[in-house]
Order: sequence, then structure tokens, then C-alpha cells
Amino acid sequence: MTTEDVFGQIDPPQRLLMGPGPVNAHPRVLRAMAADMMGQFDPEMTTTMNQTMALYRRVFMTENRRTFLIDGTARAGIEAALVSLLEPGARVLIVRAGRFGLLLSEIAARIGADIRTLDVPWGQVATLAQIEAALVEHRPRVFACIHGDTSTTMAQPLAGVGALCRRYDVLSYVDATATLGGMAVCADAWDVDIVTGALQKCMGGPPGSAPITISDRAAEHIMARRHVEAGLRAGGTTDGVGTRIGSNYFDLSMVMDYWSDKRLNHHTEATSMLYAAREAARVVLSEGLEARFARHRAAGAAMTAGLRAMGLTVYGDDAHRMPSVTGVYIPEGVDGERVRDRLRMDFEIEIGTAFGPLAGQIWRIGAMGYNAMKHKVLLTLGGLEAALRQEGFTLPSGAAVDAALASYTASD
Ligand SMILES: *Cc1c(COP(=O)(O)O)cnc(C)c1O
Repeated sequence: MTTEDVFGQIDPPQRLLMGPGPVNAHPRVLRAMAADMMGQFDPEMTTTMNQTMALYRRVFMTENRRTFLIDGTARAGIEAALVSLLEPGARVLIVRAGRFGLLLSEIAARIGADIRTLDVPWGQVATLAQIEAALVEHRPRVFACIHGDTSTTMAQPLAGVGALCRRYDVLSYVDATATLGGMAVCADAWDVDIVTGALQKCMGGPPGSAPITISDRAAEHIMARRHVEAGLRAGGTTDGVGTRIGSNYFDLSMVMDYWSDKRLNHHTEATSMLYAAREAARVVLSEGLEARFARHRAAGAAMTAGLRAMGLTVYGDDAHRMPSVTGVYIPEGVDGERVRDRLRMDFEIEIGTAFGPLAGQIWRIGAMGYNAMKHKVLLTLGGLEAALRQEGFTLPSGAAVDAALASYTASD
């Protein structure tokens, strides 16, 4: 037999993905991806791109004209935002409260930015007062933070942060990858300049497209950077004007032109991902943002109640926990990886491990997008209970599912 015969067609197992992402995509999104290709400048393609922009303005709750997709996973959106806002030597203040805050500083370091950090212990969030004090101390050009950091399961409150940045004349960036479509991500109400997301978490799509929204203020700053000659003649580059953006693919000045009415050629749009992003947004908006957020809250509350009923300790404080992913301590004497293996092999359910200081300490259990559903929460809790018992951990039989059901009744 030839290699291609031996390998066979792709036929993935029927896993229920209850980790911190990726999660199972909505079937409508998968079907949309099977649609045929269109030419890059076909009027139908332009229409589809414009429709996608209109849909994502509603998802991001913004009037920003420049709201579109970066082709690539979430970090493509992050990198596009940072490389377009920052140049070597530009000062950036980054809130680091988990692994993804560290990713922001890693990307900013490659740009050669002057990095200042507001470091928060994992499991906590920064207060508005801490953010203001750091803005006053460091006087950055750009402020960057994570909305929901899946590594710690905490969501950073953002009300008032944009106004603070305006007061100190700072451009702001927020990574809302883990929260977009699952809890309120409101670019305009936050008054944040650039917000990016992804499909594979609460949007219920596959990884590979990063929705982004850009304020007029940020767009002006980025567009001004392309006037390299003019900037160099003017002599100064302290505000970034006249410094070339250090990436072609992620140069937002070119990507903005590409998605504008000018439709200036840049990359070839990832057509199947465009269809996926468009359909994911249609699914989200036809459910209704508020209803969708409520569904995530109900799933998170039921998951938390179920885990506690098993006698387990949930990670972090209730006030700032994301509804879409819950951290729970691996009980003393239990091998966390063996429990995950049992869940996968016996129940076809995947839950997440953890990173950095939390590695081996907690599991991260998600209920995101298409998976933030009652039966999937109940199946996960039932499976986890059985897997823990198989590993010799004693716990009250049936209590987790009962507590989750009671939580659902209470939130109905
Ligand atoms: C999951 C996640 C990402 C993932 O980035 P990818 O490039 O899609 O792997 C980025 N940021 C946050 C906050 C996340 O939770």
C-alpha cells in the first residue's frame, strides 16, 4: 500500500473539547468552510468581506469602521496590533497577570520596544488605581493588557481603563481572545484603541482567524508611520511617525487599505477562514450577545458548583473569574495527567492542564462557545467524578451533577 492509503482520510475522534480552547466548532461554521473559493477581487468577495466587517462591529460592540480579520491565530492579531503601534524604543506599559501578559512582553521585546510592566500575582487582576499609578510613573505611548487570561482564568475589569489612557494620551490595546463572544467585549464603551480576538474560544469557530477592531485615533497613528520619507526629513521619530512598521504581513496600514473601499492588494484573504468567521459571527448575533453571555455565565456557575460539590477547590476569586474557563486544584495525592488520560480514553472528553507556576497544580476546564451547554457541563462533571474515583479519590457520589443541575435551575 502507498503512504496515502495507509494514512487514510482525516477522521478525528469525536472528542468533547472542554479545555481552555480550541473547542468544538459550531456545525454551521464547519459547513460554511466547505463553500467554494472566490477570486480575490470578485465583487462577491468584496461583499462578503464588507458583511464580515459589519458583523464584527456588532460582536465588538463598536462603531469602528476598521473592524476586520487578521489571517492567523489569535497571536497574529496580537502581533499585528503591537508591531503597528510600536517601534524600537517606543515605550509600552504591559499588565502581566498570566502567561498571555508574558506573551505581550515577549512580542514587544522582539520589536525592540522600551518595556515597562505592571506585574500582578497570577490569579489576581490589576486595579484601576494601580494602572493609573503605572501610567503616571512610566508615561508610555502604548498600554497593553489581556482581558481574559486563560492561564489564570481571571478577567481583567476594563471599565475606565480607556478613559485613563486618554487622560495620559496613551494608545491602548486589549487581547480579548478568550472572552470575545463569551462575555462583554465592548471596544467603544471601554474606549480602547485596538481589541483583538480569535474564533476558537467563545466564538465557537476553528483557530485561524483573528478579528480586530481599530479606533480612528490608532488608525491615524499607524497610517502616519508609513510616511517614512516625510518622517525622516522631519528628523524626529519619538512618536513613531516616520518609522517603518517592522512587518509586511502584519503592517496594519496596508491591511487597513486592503479591507477599505480602496481594496489595495496585500495578502490573499484566507477564504475558508473568512467564511468561518462570517458564520461564527452570524451564529453569535442570531443567538444575541446578552443571551450568549448569560449562557456562558450559567455554564461557568454550574461547573463551579459541580466541582465544589465534589469537594474540590476552585482556583482564584469568584469576583474576577471568567465564566468560560474554570481552574480547579488537582487534589492531594491524585495524578492530574492520569485523570486527564482517563477522561480522554473513557469519555472522549478533553480538559486542560496548566502553565508556569500553576503547572501540575490545577486543571483548567472550559465551557466555551458551542460547548457552553448544560449537557456538556454535566457530562464533563460526571466523567471527572468517575475518573477521580478510578484513581482512588473518595468523593460524594453523584453530588457534582446534582449541584450543577441545581445551579442551572437557579439561573433559569
Ligand atoms: C488562547 C489565547 C490565545 C491563543 O493564541 P493563539 O495564537 O490562537 O494560539 C491568545 N491570548 C489569550 C488571552 C488566550 O486565551
